[in-house]
Amino acid sequence: MDFIDLKSQYQALRADINSRIQTVLDHGQYIMGPEVAQLEQTLATFTGARHCITVSSGTEALVISLMALGIGRGDEVITTPFSFIATAEAIVLLGATPVFADIDPATCNLDPARLEEKITERTRAIMPVSLYGQCADMDAINAVAYRHGLTVIEDAAQSFGATYQGRKSCNLSRIGCTSFFPSKPLGCYGDGGAIFTSDDELAGAMREIRVHGQSRRYVHTRIGVGGRMDTLQCAIVLAKLERFEWELEQRAAIGAAYDALLSGKVGLVARARDRTSVFAQYTVVLEERERVQAVLHQAGIPTAVHYPVPMHMQPAYQQWCTPEDAPVALKMAGQVLSLPMGPYMALESVQTVAATLLRAVGATVPGTRSFQALA
Ligand SMILES: *Cc1c(COP(=O)(O)O)cnc(C)c1O
Repeated sequence: MDFIDLKSQYQALRADINSRIQTVLDHGQYIMGPEVAQLEQTLATFTGARHCITVSSGTEALVISLMALGIGRGDEVITTPFSFIATAEAIVLLGATPVFADIDPATCNLDPARLEEKITERTRAIMPVSLYGQCADMDAINAVAYRHGLTVIEDAAQSFGATYQGRKSCNLSRIGCTSFFPSKPLGCYGDGGAIFTSDDELAGAMREIRVHGQSRRYVHTRIGVGGRMDTLQCAIVLAKLERFEWELEQRAAIGAAYDALLSGKVGLVARARDRTSVFAQYTVVLEERERVQAVLHQAGIPTAVHYPVPMHMQPAYQQWCTPEDAPVALKMAGQVLSLPMGPYMALESVQTVAATLLRAVGATVPGTRSFQALA
């Protein structure tokens, strides 16, 4: 069993992916070829944001967003400690200070009630992460930001395609950033990412920063980076979009199947009614995580921990934080376990994983009747 099955996806899309790659090889515009603008238009339409700027990775999307806002030394950015390190890394790379607000133990996303106490006169932005494929409580976060004149940047690296009150992730705040790392819900075959905004001025700045701050050829209006997404990767994402809606339905179905088998028996990451998750991860919450993980491993079931050490406890980040900054994140880091998940996962595999997990925690294994109800 694969933790994430990318091979079946390639087999399903093989002809289209191969022909789109061949098209790029034939036209030879490897950088900023026609597929780049085509992907940007398609993704902007998908999310409803006015602008999409493709970039070289999800991390670079965050960096370029902060640069476009002029955030740097002396500025503070509030974020969650319970995320992949890139979220805080982007902030410190620019010389700004990451400030960690604690998470809601139910959803593992930033708790909007913990934001206001972290705001100072140096705060410039709030960077929530839509963890595991479920949007953070963006309206509540936007409301706090609005009261204090701050910008909200959604780190939507795990949530492209998710909805919040019917609106799309990446278009829920002034800026949204996503990643096309291969294992993300919408991935390419290397590194890639995108920034979304409906602010024309910011979008213009981001486009310049992406190409070394260049406003015209060899005229460098601002400091930038080499942050373009290459044409081949854009072509691959275009091919993957052909099946993306279907894949989102499959992800929802697999998530619902896990829910039906596990809820009430093991702890689950809660999902709010006003949101749909794209299940970048399907994550359970266990007291005895290490033991259960070992049992699953023995049974040939791969699992992963997202994330074992919260960012405010990472050695390189100690100068900006203390363990007291986020006790809830620290506790959840010891209990979360992500199960195999993906649009190409068979229902029988979900049943195998759930039954093995339930046996490991000593819960009663559902009988054949509940299995049949799912089929
Ligand atoms: C994957 C990820 C990133 C970084 O994306 P890359 O494309 O790998 O640079 C940033 N934030 C979160 C929450 C992620 O999951």
